[in-house]
Amino acid sequence: MVAKIIDGKKIAADLRHNIASEVARLGREHGVQPGLAVVLVGEDAASQVYVRNKGVATKEAGMVSFEYRLPETVTEAELLAQVTQLNEDPAVHGILVQFPVPGHISQQRVIEHIHPDKDVDGLHPINAGRLASGIPGLVPCTPMGSVILAKQSLGKLEGLHAVIIGRSNLVGKPVAQLLLNENATVTLAHSRTRNLPELCKTADIIIAAVGIPEMVKGDWVKQGAAVIDVGINRVDVPETGKTRLVGDVAFDDAKENAGYITPVPGGVGPMTIACLLRNTVFAACRQAGLPDPIL
Ligand code: NAD
Repeated sequence: MVAKIIDGKKIAADLRHNIASEVARLGREHGVQPGLAVVLVGEDAASQVYVRNKGVATKEAGMVSFEYRLPETVTEAELLAQVTQLNEDPAVHGILVQFPVPGHISQQRVIEHIHPDKDVDGLHPINAGRLASGIPGLVPCTPMGSVILAKQSLGKLEGLHAVIIGRSNLVGKPVAQLLLNENATVTLAHSRTRNLPELCKTADIIIAAVGIPEMVKGDWVKQGAAVIDVGINRVDVPETGKTRLVGDVAFDDAKENAGYITPVPGGVGPMTIACLLRNTVFAACRQAGLPDPIL
């Protein structure tokens, strides 16, 4: 079997199109224009690209984009004061502080300072608790995007065995909670897990979120399984002297066994920004006392 490639770029573009329609409707019918504030500390080149891309996508969806750039030397107190101001600003429905922040600032304190209802990254412990309890909250974007891709490929996930590799707060744990809420049977594997290849061979869905290039080999994948590769790793290509992006899955071999597989790039990556915009629309609706849209 040769896998069907899951086109994350197209699925994300369709989601963004639906979000833009919903934003237009909110403006027309309720006079609400969702606003997303992104705070960047320092000059990290990759973070600057991410922040710029988020700003462009926000405006393309018809929402308001607020951008705050603070110097590398900003104190934690000053950053928290900026977050407080955004917590209190009614035009701002979602707040995202781009990570990593410089070492003298506690990432966890920043996360906990953002109002949970504006926490569009979904990392606040209140939102993690809501997700674990199966009640509405704001869900981390990459996990949400990964599960949307799995559902689009397989339909209902009920009763399927999902093996997630990686247990970070950012990806692995929220993916596990989302899949449990879809009634999948979930195995959450990590660096101390024994017999990972054998475990993966029993999976109907493999979600790889490790950060080790091409760690998941082709023969770990059961015939017909869905493989969602969250990893983004830059590796050297000695022949050309350049670098290229690869995932956590050995794509060329895995696609010979899988039923569905995401490429890197062009799989989970584009879903992350789309789900950030989706969270911002949910946050705006809830703050305006409106029901969640169907997105
Ligand atoms: P992390 O480093 O916080 O967590 C990695 C996890 O992998 C840990 O739980 C660890 O236990 C597990 N692990 C490490 N070595 C292992 C091994 N040998 N066997 C099994 N498990 C092992 O990373 P993260 O933030 O969760 O990100 C994971 C990957 O996803 C990275 O490549 C990152 O770049 C990527 N990522 C992509 C997006 C996106 O938008 N597509 C977003 C976030 C993260």
